[in-house]
Amino acid sequence: MAFEGLAERLQGTISKIKGKGKVTEQDVKEMMREVRFALIEADVNLKVVKTFIKRVSERAIGQDVMKSLTPGQQVIKIVKDELTDLMGGEQSPIKFAQKPPTVILMVGLQGAGKTTTTGKLANLLRKKYNRKPLLVAADVYRPAAIKQLQTLGNQLTLPVFALGTEVSPVEIVRQALEHAKEEHHDVVLIDTAGRLHIDENLMQELKDIRALKEPDEVFLVVDSMTGQDAVNVADSFNEAVGITGVVLTKLDGDTRGGAALSIRSVTQKPIKFVGMGEKMDALEPFHPERMASRILG
Ligand code: GDP
Repeated sequence: MAFEGLAERLQGTISKIKGKGKVTEQDVKEMMREVRFALIEADVNLKVVKTFIKRVSERAIGQDVMKSLTPGQQVIKIVKDELTDLMGGEQSPIKFAQKPPTVILMVGLQGAGKTTTTGKLANLLRKKYNRKPLLVAADVYRPAAIKQLQTLGNQLTLPVFALGTEVSPVEIVRQALEHAKEEHHDVVLIDTAGRLHIDENLMQELKDIRALKEPDEVFLVVDSMTGQDAVNVADSFNEAVGITGVVLTKLDGDTRGGAALSIRSVTQKPIKFVGMGEKMDALEPFHPERMASRILG
Protein backbone atom coordinates (compact mmCIF):
# COMPACT_ATOMS: atom_id res chain seq x y z
CA MET A 1 0.00 0.00 0.00
CA ALA A 2 1.13 3.56 -0.76
CA PHE A 3 2.44 5.64 2.15
CA GLU A 4 2.52 2.62 4.42
CA GLY A 5 5.81 3.41 6.13
CA LEU A 6 5.00 7.08 6.51
CA ALA A 7 1.51 6.39 7.84
CA GLU A 8 2.80 3.88 10.34
CA ARG A 9 5.48 6.20 11.64
CA LEU A 10 3.27 9.27 11.87
CA GLN A 11 0.45 7.35 13.51
CA GLY A 12 2.91 5.96 16.03
CA THR A 13 4.16 9.44 16.83
CA ILE A 14 0.66 10.82 17.09
CA SER A 15 -0.53 8.13 19.45
CA LYS A 16 2.06 9.29 21.98
CA ILE A 17 0.70 12.82 22.14
CA LYS A 18 -2.97 12.16 21.43
CA GLY A 19 -4.54 12.01 24.85
CA LYS A 20 -2.06 14.22 26.69
CA GLY A 21 -3.69 16.73 29.03
CA LYS A 22 -0.53 18.75 29.08
CA VAL A 23 1.92 19.20 26.22
CA THR A 24 5.30 20.79 26.79
CA GLU A 25 7.57 22.45 24.30
CA GLN A 26 9.84 19.46 24.77
CA ASP A 27 7.01 17.09 23.77
CA VAL A 28 6.44 19.01 20.55
CA LYS A 29 10.15 19.09 19.77
CA GLU A 30 10.38 15.36 20.33
CA MET A 31 7.40 14.77 18.08
CA MET A 32 8.80 17.02 15.37
CA ARG A 33 12.03 15.06 15.40
CA GLU A 34 10.10 11.91 14.67
CA VAL A 35 7.91 13.55 12.04
CA ARG A 36 11.01 14.92 10.36
CA PHE A 37 12.55 11.47 10.27
CA ALA A 38 9.36 9.91 8.90
CA LEU A 39 9.15 12.46 6.08
CA ILE A 40 12.77 12.05 5.10
CA GLU A 41 12.36 8.31 5.07
CA ALA A 42 9.32 8.72 2.81
CA ASP A 43 11.62 10.50 0.35
CA VAL A 44 10.14 13.96 0.82
CA ASN A 45 12.27 16.81 -0.53
CA LEU A 46 14.58 18.10 2.24
CA LYS A 47 13.67 21.75 1.84
CA VAL A 48 10.01 20.83 1.99
CA VAL A 49 10.59 18.85 5.20
CA LYS A 50 12.41 21.76 6.80
CA THR A 51 9.69 24.30 6.01
CA PHE A 52 6.98 21.89 7.10
CA ILE A 53 8.59 21.22 10.48
CA LYS A 54 9.15 24.92 11.05
CA ARG A 55 5.53 25.78 10.30
CA VAL A 56 4.09 23.03 12.47
CA SER A 57 6.47 23.82 15.35
CA GLU A 58 5.67 27.53 15.30
CA ARG A 59 1.96 26.88 15.46
CA ALA A 60 2.13 23.99 17.93
CA ILE A 61 4.34 25.71 20.47
CA GLY A 62 1.94 28.65 20.74
CA GLN A 63 0.34 29.36 24.12
CA ASP A 64 -3.21 28.88 22.86
CA VAL A 65 -2.40 25.31 21.92
CA MET A 66 -0.45 24.38 25.04
CA LYS A 67 -2.97 25.93 27.38
CA SER A 68 -5.99 24.48 25.58
CA LEU A 69 -8.04 21.65 27.08
CA THR A 70 -6.93 19.15 24.43
CA PRO A 71 -3.39 20.13 23.46
CA GLY A 72 -2.58 16.69 22.01
CA GLN A 73 -5.55 16.88 19.64
CA GLN A 74 -4.64 20.44 18.69
CA VAL A 75 -1.12 19.49 17.74
CA ILE A 76 -2.43 16.61 15.63
CA LYS A 77 -4.87 18.96 13.92
CA ILE A 78 -2.03 21.33 13.09
CA VAL A 79 -0.03 18.48 11.55
CA LYS A 80 -3.06 17.47 9.48
CA ASP A 81 -3.77 21.04 8.34
CA GLU A 82 -0.19 21.59 7.30
CA LEU A 83 -0.01 18.22 5.53
CA THR A 84 -3.17 19.15 3.62
CA ASP A 85 -1.70 22.54 2.75
CA LEU A 86 1.51 20.92 1.62
CA MET A 87 -0.43 18.87 -0.91
CA GLY A 88 -2.28 21.92 -2.21
CA GLY A 89 -5.10 22.48 0.27
CA GLU A 90 -8.21 22.33 -1.87
CA GLN A 91 -8.91 19.87 -4.65
CA SER A 92 -7.96 21.55 -7.93
CA PRO A 93 -10.61 21.14 -10.65
CA ILE A 94 -10.07 20.93 -14.42
CA LYS A 95 -10.11 24.33 -16.07
CA PHE A 96 -12.52 24.09 -18.97
CA ALA A 97 -12.38 26.59 -21.84
CA GLN A 98 -15.13 29.19 -21.90
CA LYS A 99 -15.44 28.51 -25.60
CA PRO A 100 -15.02 24.79 -26.44
CA PRO A 101 -13.07 22.81 -27.21
CA THR A 102 -11.01 22.61 -24.04
CA VAL A 103 -7.50 21.61 -25.06
CA ILE A 104 -5.51 19.41 -22.69
CA LEU A 105 -1.88 18.69 -23.45
CA MET A 106 -0.57 15.49 -21.88
CA VAL A 107 3.20 15.51 -21.31
CA GLY A 108 5.65 13.29 -19.48
CA LEU A 109 8.53 10.89 -19.73
CA GLN A 110 8.17 7.48 -21.33
CA GLY A 111 6.82 4.86 -18.99
CA ALA A 112 5.24 7.34 -16.57
CA GLY A 113 1.77 6.27 -17.67
CA LYS A 114 0.97 9.14 -20.02
CA THR A 115 -0.91 7.24 -22.71
CA THR A 116 -2.84 5.16 -20.17
CA THR A 117 -3.73 8.33 -18.26
CA THR A 118 -4.88 10.05 -21.47
CA GLY A 119 -7.36 7.21 -21.99
CA LYS A 120 -8.45 7.26 -18.34
CA LEU A 121 -8.97 11.01 -18.38
CA ALA A 122 -11.04 10.85 -21.57
CA ASN A 123 -13.14 8.14 -19.94
CA LEU A 124 -13.64 10.25 -16.81
CA LEU A 125 -14.49 13.33 -18.86
CA ARG A 126 -17.19 11.42 -20.68
CA LYS A 127 -18.62 9.62 -17.66
CA LYS A 128 -18.43 12.23 -14.91
CA TYR A 129 -18.41 15.49 -16.85
CA ASN A 130 -20.65 14.50 -19.74
CA ARG A 131 -18.12 15.67 -22.32
CA LYS A 132 -17.41 14.46 -25.82
CA PRO A 133 -13.64 13.98 -25.91
CA LEU A 134 -11.34 13.50 -28.87
CA LEU A 135 -8.04 11.71 -28.33
CA VAL A 136 -5.11 12.88 -30.44
CA ALA A 137 -2.08 10.69 -31.14
CA ALA A 138 0.80 13.16 -31.42
CA ASP A 139 3.63 10.84 -30.35
CA VAL A 140 5.12 10.30 -33.79
CA TYR A 141 8.36 8.75 -32.57
CA ARG A 142 6.92 5.48 -31.40
CA PRO A 143 4.41 3.81 -33.73
CA ALA A 144 3.56 1.60 -30.77
CA ALA A 145 2.36 4.66 -28.85
CA ILE A 146 -0.13 5.54 -31.58
CA LYS A 147 -1.32 1.95 -31.67
CA GLN A 148 -1.65 1.91 -27.89
CA LEU A 149 -3.86 5.00 -27.91
CA GLN A 150 -5.97 3.54 -30.71
CA THR A 151 -6.42 0.34 -28.74
CA LEU A 152 -7.53 2.34 -25.70
CA GLY A 153 -9.87 4.36 -27.92
CA ASN A 154 -11.42 1.16 -29.25
CA GLN A 155 -11.78 -0.25 -25.79
CA LEU A 156 -13.52 2.91 -24.59
CA THR A 157 -15.38 3.47 -27.86
CA LEU A 158 -13.87 6.93 -28.09
CA PRO A 159 -12.47 8.36 -31.34
CA VAL A 160 -8.71 8.73 -31.79
CA PHE A 161 -7.32 11.24 -34.26
CA ALA A 162 -4.08 9.94 -35.82
CA LEU A 163 -2.11 10.72 -38.97
CA GLY A 164 0.68 8.17 -38.57
CA THR A 165 4.31 8.99 -37.92
CA GLU A 166 5.18 10.98 -41.04
CA VAL A 167 3.28 14.14 -40.16
CA SER A 168 4.70 16.59 -37.61
CA PRO A 169 3.04 16.78 -34.19
CA VAL A 170 2.14 20.45 -34.75
CA GLU A 171 0.39 19.61 -38.01
CA ILE A 172 -1.42 16.70 -36.34
CA VAL A 173 -2.67 19.02 -33.62
CA ARG A 174 -3.72 21.65 -36.16
CA GLN A 175 -5.79 19.15 -38.12
CA ALA A 176 -7.14 17.52 -34.96
CA LEU A 177 -8.48 20.88 -33.77
CA GLU A 178 -10.27 21.39 -37.09
CA HIS A 179 -11.67 17.89 -36.87
CA ALA A 180 -12.85 18.52 -33.31
CA LYS A 181 -14.73 21.62 -34.44
CA GLU A 182 -16.44 19.76 -37.28
CA GLU A 183 -17.41 16.85 -35.05
CA HIS A 184 -18.36 19.01 -32.06
CA HIS A 185 -15.87 17.55 -29.63
CA ASP A 186 -15.76 19.75 -26.55
CA VAL A 187 -12.48 18.38 -25.14
CA VAL A 188 -9.32 17.56 -27.08
CA LEU A 189 -6.73 15.43 -25.29
CA ILE A 190 -3.32 15.48 -26.94
CA ASP A 191 -0.96 12.60 -26.18
CA THR A 192 2.50 14.03 -26.88
CA ALA A 193 5.81 12.23 -27.24
CA GLY A 194 7.25 10.63 -24.16
CA ARG A 195 11.03 10.48 -24.10
CA LEU A 196 13.44 8.65 -21.91
CA HIS A 197 14.72 11.93 -20.57
CA ILE A 198 13.99 15.61 -21.06
CA ASP A 199 15.68 16.90 -24.18
CA GLU A 200 15.67 20.06 -26.27
CA ASN A 201 13.68 18.57 -29.16
CA LEU A 202 10.91 17.43 -26.87
CA MET A 203 10.66 20.83 -25.24
CA GLN A 204 10.74 22.61 -28.60
CA GLU A 205 7.96 20.40 -29.89
CA LEU A 206 5.78 21.22 -26.91
CA LYS A 207 6.53 24.91 -27.37
CA ASP A 208 5.53 24.68 -31.04
CA ILE A 209 2.22 23.05 -30.14
CA ARG A 210 1.59 25.74 -27.56
CA ALA A 211 2.36 28.44 -30.13
CA LEU A 212 -0.31 26.98 -32.41
CA LYS A 213 -2.97 26.83 -29.72
CA GLU A 214 -2.54 27.72 -26.08
CA PRO A 215 -3.90 24.73 -24.17
CA ASP A 216 -6.31 25.19 -21.28
CA GLU A 217 -4.40 22.61 -19.29
CA VAL A 218 -0.94 21.10 -19.57
CA PHE A 219 -0.91 17.97 -17.45
CA LEU A 220 2.39 16.41 -16.56
CA VAL A 221 2.11 12.68 -15.91
CA VAL A 222 4.68 11.41 -13.42
CA ASP A 223 5.27 8.07 -11.80
CA SER A 224 4.89 8.33 -8.02
CA MET A 225 7.18 5.32 -7.60
CA THR A 226 10.15 7.38 -8.76
CA GLY A 227 10.04 9.64 -5.68
CA GLN A 228 12.38 12.62 -5.87
CA ASP A 229 13.03 11.98 -9.56
CA ALA A 230 9.36 12.68 -10.17
CA VAL A 231 9.75 15.99 -8.36
CA ASN A 232 12.81 16.92 -10.43
CA VAL A 233 11.04 15.98 -13.65
CA ALA A 234 8.06 18.11 -12.66
CA ASP A 235 10.32 21.04 -11.85
CA SER A 236 12.17 20.80 -15.19
CA PHE A 237 9.03 20.42 -17.28
CA ASN A 238 7.43 23.30 -15.50
CA GLU A 239 10.40 25.56 -16.09
CA ALA A 240 10.77 24.56 -19.73
CA VAL A 241 7.17 24.50 -20.96
CA GLY A 242 4.99 25.54 -18.06
CA ILE A 243 2.57 22.96 -16.71
CA THR A 244 -0.80 23.65 -15.13
CA GLY A 245 -1.13 20.46 -13.13
CA VAL A 246 0.27 17.05 -12.31
CA VAL A 247 -1.18 13.58 -12.60
CA LEU A 248 0.56 11.24 -10.21
CA THR A 249 0.37 7.64 -11.41
CA LYS A 250 0.82 4.26 -9.73
CA LEU A 251 -0.40 5.39 -6.34
CA ASP A 252 -1.91 1.93 -6.03
CA GLY A 253 1.64 0.61 -5.66
CA ASP A 254 3.80 0.81 -2.58
CA THR A 255 5.15 4.30 -3.23
CA ARG A 256 6.65 5.91 -0.15
CA GLY A 257 4.91 9.20 -0.77
CA GLY A 258 7.78 11.62 -1.39
CA ALA A 259 6.47 12.78 -4.76
CA ALA A 260 2.92 13.34 -3.56
CA LEU A 261 4.14 15.40 -0.61
CA SER A 262 6.80 17.43 -2.43
CA ILE A 263 5.56 18.24 -5.93
CA ARG A 264 3.12 20.97 -5.03
CA SER A 265 5.53 22.79 -2.80
CA VAL A 266 8.47 22.56 -5.22
CA THR A 267 6.61 23.40 -8.45
CA GLN A 268 3.68 25.43 -7.07
CA LYS A 269 1.47 23.35 -9.38
CA PRO A 270 -1.39 21.25 -8.07
CA ILE A 271 -1.71 17.49 -8.27
CA LYS A 272 -4.99 17.23 -10.14
CA PHE A 273 -5.47 13.47 -10.45
CA VAL A 274 -3.98 10.26 -9.19
CA GLY A 275 -3.70 6.96 -11.02
CA MET A 276 -4.87 4.06 -8.89
CA GLY A 277 -4.35 1.12 -11.25
CA GLU A 278 -4.01 0.00 -14.83
CA LYS A 279 -7.73 -0.15 -15.63
CA MET A 280 -9.47 2.66 -17.47
CA ASP A 281 -11.60 3.65 -14.48
CA ALA A 282 -8.61 3.89 -12.11
CA LEU A 283 -8.17 7.67 -12.16
CA GLU A 284 -9.36 9.84 -9.27
CA PRO A 285 -9.35 13.56 -8.53
CA PHE A 286 -6.71 14.27 -5.91
CA HIS A 287 -8.09 15.41 -2.56
CA PRO A 288 -5.29 16.74 -0.31
CA GLU A 289 -7.37 16.58 2.85
CA ARG A 290 -8.51 13.01 2.30
CA MET A 291 -4.94 12.01 1.57
CA ALA A 292 -3.73 13.69 4.77
CA SER A 293 -6.45 11.89 6.75
CA ARG A 294 -5.45 8.61 5.20
CA ILE A 295 -1.81 9.13 6.13
CA LEU A 296 -2.58 10.22 9.69
CA GLY A 297 -5.19 7.54 10.28
P1 GDP B 1 3.76 6.17 -21.23
O1 GDP B 1 5.01 5.66 -21.86
O2 GDP B 1 4.04 7.30 -20.30
O3 GDP B 1 2.68 6.49 -22.22
O4 GDP B 1 3.25 5.01 -20.28
P2 GDP B 1 2.07 3.96 -20.44
O5 GDP B 1 0.76 4.65 -20.47
O6 GDP B 1 2.38 3.04 -21.56
O7 GDP B 1 2.17 3.20 -19.02
C1 GDP B 1 3.31 2.48 -18.65
C2 GDP B 1 2.87 1.33 -17.74
O8 GDP B 1 2.38 1.84 -16.51
C3 GDP B 1 1.74 0.50 -18.32
O9 GDP B 1 1.99 -0.85 -18.06
C4 GDP B 1 0.51 0.98 -17.57
O10 GDP B 1 -0.50 0.00 -17.46
C5 GDP B 1 1.10 1.31 -16.21
N1 GDP B 1 0.33 2.30 -15.46
C6 GDP B 1 -0.05 3.53 -15.83
N2 GDP B 1 -0.72 4.16 -14.83
C7 GDP B 1 -0.78 3.29 -13.80
C8 GDP B 1 -1.34 3.36 -12.46
O11 GDP B 1 -1.92 4.35 -12.01
N3 GDP B 1 -1.17 2.25 -11.70
C9 GDP B 1 -0.52 1.13 -12.16
N4 GDP B 1 -0.41 0.10 -11.32
N5 GDP B 1 0.01 1.05 -13.37
C10 GDP B 1 -0.11 2.11 -14.20
